[in-house]
Amino acid sequence: MHERSVAQAIYRQVERTEREQQGLLALACEVEIGPLSGIEALCLQSAFADLMNEFGREIHLTIQEVPLRGRCGDCDTESSIDAYDFHCAACGSPRLQITSGDQIQLAHIDLA
Ligand SMILES: [Zn+2]
Repeated sequence: MHERSVAQAIYRQVERTEREQQGLLALACEVEIGPLSGIEALCLQSAFADLMNEFGREIHLTIQEVPLRGRCGDCDTESSIDAYDFHCAACGSPRLQITSGDQIQLAHIDLA
């Protein structure tokens, strides 16, 4: 299950940050996922909760779904991509480069 390995990757990053902060513990973290990341927010939420049970930790995970955005290869306009319509909003060109929305990223960790 893909979400479980993503949850593990998030937790590894949280642990690394805890080590860097010498003794502080994470209470919560926030990840951003885009529609092209292939991650189901609900599945990730439950995979992360399972992981926290196994490790005896209580870290609250917040998932922020970020919109899909692309930059036009013809007119260089950056726009949001709605309903998977991969055309530039300004000139209609299909040459869009995805600039956000295909990633998963740890945005924030609350330490105490
Ligand atoms: Zn364009």
